[in-house]
Parts: sequence; structure tokens; C-alpha cells
Amino acid sequence: MTSVPLIDPFARPISYLRVSVTDRCDFRCVYCMSENMTFLPKKELLTLEELDRMCSTFIRMGVEKLRITGGEPLVRREIMTFFRSMSRHLESGALQELTLTTNGSQLSRFAGDLYAAGVRRINVSLDTLDDAKFSRVTRWGKLSKVLDGIDAAQKAGLRVKINTVALKGFNEDELFSLTEWCASSDLDLTFIEVMPMGDLGGEDRVGQYWSLKDLRGQLAEQYTLKELDHRTGGPARYVELKETGQQLGFITPLTHNFCESCNRVRLTCTGELFMCLGQEDNADLRGPLRASESDTLLEDAIRAAIARKPKGHDFDYSRQTADGQVSRHMSHTGG
Ligand code: SAM
Ligand code: SF4
Repeated sequence: MTSVPLIDPFARPISYLRVSVTDRCDFRCVYCMSENMTFLPKKELLTLEELDRMCSTFIRMGVEKLRITGGEPLVRREIMTFFRSMSRHLESGALQELTLTTNGSQLSRFAGDLYAAGVRRINVSLDTLDDAKFSRVTRWGKLSKVLDGIDAAQKAGLRVKINTVALKGFNEDELFSLTEWCASSDLDLTFIEVMPMGDLGGEDRVGQYWSLKDLRGQLAEQYTLKELDHRTGGPARYVELKETGQQLGFITPLTHNFCESCNRVRLTCTGELFMCLGQEDNADLRGPLRASESDTLLEDAIRAAIARKPKGHDFDYSRQTADGQVSRHMSHTGG
């Protein structure tokens, strides 16, 4: 790090950057996108070189963890060039971790390249182990392709965490089968509450919401849950299932607010910086990046943005409406 670290107004050091490298995706998950999405024109996107410059600037300013997301990051053309180029920051020790969140559809193709670029852990989103339900929730996805991708990732040496969105009336009946499948396949597992993001064209938000409090209640009927103290600096809280030793993560933006320990900001594929996933405020970084070959303007814009990072989000379903809803889709900011 060459400059003063990034600290927000609530004394939280910003050491984690999530970067959405594309808004496009080969799936259309019902809670994430509408079926006929309009995507950004390609010329709006940061080029791979610009993404490199952005990320390298953040790393110089103290970012130690970089998560690549989207849309589906692995559908961006030549994305491996970007991963390979980021690995220089791992080699120098400036970056502690380079990772990605993916739907898994392209992993069979890219798992080896990701490992070679220094990626060691990845998150794969998977909400069901049932073929027909998988097609229903992703609209365009194929379960077997994702399972093959997970297998390829493990064989390449990547540690895989499954992220499962808890969806009422959809995967409630798979709570135990998903949990057991992860244990027997040596996969970590985290459950996520559905968040009110983006207009889904009539999709019922409140109806999709299955509180993780309920989910934990159901788990507790079969297992003894032991609360674990360790945190990853992220929003997840962990429990251990005493009978098996398996650890499960819970991301509960709605039943528990996790903002006090927030150490992250999110960059979109067009260079907007969102200081909070659940707020509309953002800063344009593409302008300052393109305005000068030196990074001084960009660094100033980043510092000014971090100085506006809000205390937290305002999501709330308690009045049976999706309060605090933000208009952009998760695929825009990068989940
Ligand atoms: N396409 C990749 C994937 O699916 O993993 C990366 C981007 S996706 C937007 C990142 C994560 O956001 C996924 O785990 C997805 O399940 C989650 N997600 C999308 N929309 C969501 C919503 N409304 N509430 C909660 N999680 C959501
Ligand atoms: Fe695509 Fe991921 Fe959104 Fe599903 S959750 S539509 S895979 S970006």
C-alpha cells in the first residue's frame, strides 16, 4: 500500500472490493432478473484494462480482498486475461485474496485457469438439487452443467462454498438434503435471505421471503446448533451442527443487520462505486479514470466516495411490503 488507508466515517477500514465485471448472465434467476432484461451497451462497460487500473488503484489504497462477480463473471469475454493480470498483486503480497462468485455454468471450462491465476476459494450459487426446480428458478440454467462445474473446481484444487438463497415454498423441503449433500461433498454452505433488489416484473418479493430464523428453527429440530464466534469480516454468521461438526453460514440482511462491521464497497461494470448494497448513492469513477492518465483524480474520487459511505441499509419486510427496496438489480451491483 502506498497511500493512507481508506477509512469510512464510521471508522470502518475498507479492505474489500467487489467488482461486477458484466451485467450479463446466461441464467435469469427469478429473484435476480426479469426474463427479458435489457443489458448495457458494450461501450458503456469498463474495458479489461480499465478494470485492471481501477482494481490496482484500490489495492494500492489498501484493498486486500477482491471478489469478482456480475452478472455472471465467467461470461465476460477474455475474463481470464483479467484474472491472470490480477495475480501479480497476489504475488507481490498486496492482495491477500482473489476470488469470485459464479453460477457455476462455465466452471468446467475455467476452473484450472482460475487456480493457475491464484484463485483458491470460490462461491457457487445453487438453490436446489432438483433438475426441474433448478430450471424453474434459473429459467435458463441446467443443473448437470453446474454440478459438473463444481466437480471440476474441486478437482482443480478450489475450495467451493455453496450460496443458497432461502426461498419460501421453493427450497424449504430441501433444507436437509442440501445440508447433507454439502457435508458429503466437502462443500461449505451459506444460506442467504432474499433481498428486495430490482424490479422483477410482478415477481412477489414478500412471498419469496423465507426468514433464516425460521430456517434455523427447522434445522434445530434435527440438529443441535452451536453458535460460532468466528467471523470472516463479512456479513455471514456461523453455526456448527454438533452431531456432525458441519459449519453453516447465514447471511441475514433482514432479520439481523450486519452493517456495523461492513468493510466493503462495490464497483459496477460501468465504473460506479456503490458504498452500500442497500442504498442508491453511488460515485462515478469512470469519469475520473478516463479524464487523466495519472491515477490522482481517481484516488481523490475514491476517497470522496468512501467519506460518504452510509452507516447501513434500510431493507425491511416487517410491514409486509418490501421496504427499503432499491431499484437496481443485484446483477448490476454484483451480489
Ligand atoms: N451470477 C453469479 C452468481 O449467481 O453467483 C454472481 C452474481 S449473483 C447477482 C450473486 C449472488 O447474488 C448469487 O448468490 C445470487 O443468488 C444472489 N442474489 C441475486 N439476487 C438476489 C436477491 N434479490 N436477494 C438475495 N440474493 C440475491
Ligand atoms: Fe445470473 Fe447470478 Fe443473477 Fe442468477 S443470480 S440471474 S446467475 S447474476
